[in-house]
Formats: sequence, C-alpha cells, structure tokens
Amino acid sequence: MTAKPYHVYITRKIPQPAIDLLEEYCTVTYNEIEDALTPEQLKNAVKDKDAILSMFYDKFTPEVLDCCNKAKIVANFAVGFENLDIPAATERGIYLSNTPGVLNIATAETAWALIFAVARNIPAMDAVCRTGKMDSWSPFGYLGQEITGKTLGVIGAGRIGSAMIHMAKGFHMPVLYSAHSPKPELEQETGAIFTDLDTLLKKSDIISIHAPATPETKYLISKTQFEMMKTTAILINTARGQLINTQDLIWALENKVIAGAGIDVFENEPYVTPGLEKLSNLVMTPHIGSATYETRVNMGLTAARNIIAALKGELPPNCLNPDAKQK
Ligand code: NAP
Repeated sequence: MTAKPYHVYITRKIPQPAIDLLEEYCTVTYNEIEDALTPEQLKNAVKDKDAILSMFYDKFTPEVLDCCNKAKIVANFAVGFENLDIPAATERGIYLSNTPGVLNIATAETAWALIFAVARNIPAMDAVCRTGKMDSWSPFGYLGQEITGKTLGVIGAGRIGSAMIHMAKGFHMPVLYSAHSPKPELEQETGAIFTDLDTLLKKSDIISIHAPATPETKYLISKTQFEMMKTTAILINTARGQLINTQDLIWALENKVIAGAGIDVFENEPYVTPGLEKLSNLVMTPHIGSATYETRVNMGLTAARNIIAALKGELPPNCLNPDAKQK
C-alpha cells in the first residue's frame, strides 16, 4: 500500500462515512477522548497536520493558528464559525470553511420542537404522567397556548431562518422577519414581511432567533428588548447563547415579562448558567440543533469535501476566506 501524502486531524470523532471519504486521500487521526481539547492540547494536535477538521468550540486564535505549520485548511464541522479568526488565518495562508445548508432542516425542526414544548409545557406534562400525579381530566387542567395562526417573528432570515419561515406556512402563521436587508424572493414565496427588530419584538407571539454570533449580535436580546415583547410571548434561541443576556432572560421569565422560552444554546457551553434550571416556563436542550444522524453525516461529508478540495489545491466549496494565499 502506498503511503498517503496528507495527514488530517479531527478534533472529535465524527460519523464514519466522512472518515471513509477522507481516508481515500489522507491518513486520518482524531481526538479519541470523548471531550473537547484544551487550548494546549489543540496547539499540540494541529502541528504538522495538512488539514484540521474542527468543532465550533475549538478556538483557532492567532496562537493556535501559529501551530498549524503545515495546514492548508481548518474545516469547521458547523455552519457557525465565530471560533475561527478569519483575518489571522488569511494572513497565514490557511483556508477556513464551514458546513452551510445541510443542517437547516434539523435546526429549524429543533426550534419548532421547542416552540411546542414551551407552548404546551411538554416536559412538565411528561413528568406529571411519570410520577403518578396525573389529575382527572378538567376543563382548566394543564392549559397551554395554541400556535396555529399566531404571529411568528424570525430574527435572521438566512438559511435556517428561511427554513423556519417556510415551515410556518403549515401552521398558517403570519411571519415578520429581521435581517440586514429584505429578502424579496422569500417574501414572494411565503408572504413574510421584513421589519425592524423593535417592531418584530412588539408584534410577534413567537420569536425565534437565527442570526449568527458576531460582535453586532452580542446581547441582541437584553432587558430593553424583553420589555418590548408581549407578556404572552415565547422566545426561542437555537442560534448561539451570546445573542441573549442570560441574566436578563432569567429576570424576564421569573417576573413573567414574557410567557416562556426555549433555548438550545448557552452563553458558556457546556456550562448551564445557575438559575435557568429553576424556571418552570423554560425548556432547555443541550445544543442539539443539528443532532440527527443524517445531518451529522452530511456535515462530516461537507467538511471532508472542503478538506479534499484544499489539499488538491482547489478552492474549498464552502471557503470563508478565499483571499488566503496558500502556502
Ligand atoms: P445564515 O444563512 O448566514 O443566516 C444568518 C442570518 O442572520 C442572515 O439572514 C443575516 O442577515 C441575519 N443577521 C445577521 N446579523 C443580524 C442582526 N444583527 N439582526 C438580524 N439579523 C441578522 O446562517 P444560518 O446557516 O441560517 O445559521 C444561523 C446560525 O444558527 C449560525 O450562525 C449558528 O450560530 C446557528 N446554528 C445553531 C445550530 C444549533 O445546533 N443550535 C445549528 C446550526 C446553526 P443578512 O442575510 O441580511 O445579512
């Protein structure tokens, strides 16, 4: 067997079809500890590797990128890429890539799962049944909120936000959305209406966040924004924890400023901010937006294709910094 010319390092084990694809071209090694690498472990692991397949929590700072002495690409196994220092990688001639598109449905479905879980208090209803505390049926027993026909506000109408808006048609929901610019095609297909954030917050019954974590979106939802929302509003966040000020979320839910919230993402993952666990009007999931087997396979294959393109001297299909001058 001839030796493979390239060595790819994967920072956490991913589904086998993606490893198989990479192994057609490269030697593959991966982090065998079922946990995130520390910054020091990451610095050591990336040395002398031709490509790195990274997770969204692996921070590729200038110091870590300096250790990527041979790498042609750092390919994120995620659509979000706030962990990658784009100017620093570009300066060092390292391509960066992400996995857009393949996780739209899984993430939008997670947002819908949280909407219904909050609106009908599903986790608590499940607990009632399991603990033998079910009361006889009553006209006022276990009441929740209906979703069909309510106004949905979508913050960030990109790939996942658009999937959300298309799905809302099935529930006959008028949709308001915010983004940097209007999306005429989306409006034509769905009837969604572009609006500023304040109007969206004031008029929506359900608010779902799908904008990326950037300096601009840090604490996009804080006390002032909660005060604009309806007292019956439900807020959903499957984007990134940094978009909501967690202490203000706790305050809003404790004081019934809004009716409820569903969150899949946290400010300091995997740490769950103390106080969240006490809120009965909050449903939490542990960052499972893209967590279906088929989606994780497709994320792996997408990242692998980006790596193979870079190793062949081609522009990766999902390149985030095409200006990087390759070594
Ligand atoms: P995308 O296609 O880039 O869409 C992002 C949208 O956000 C764009 O429409 C953009 O507007 C809008 N936006 C940016 N800044 C905004 C602001 N300040 N106010 C309102 N809208 C703003 O990204 P995507 O693929 O849909 O993914 C969205 C995010 O979801 C990712 O960045 C990631 O963090 C998160 N995510 C989470 C999970 C999970 O497991 N929970 C899974 C996948 C993704 P313009 O188009 O006008 O610029």
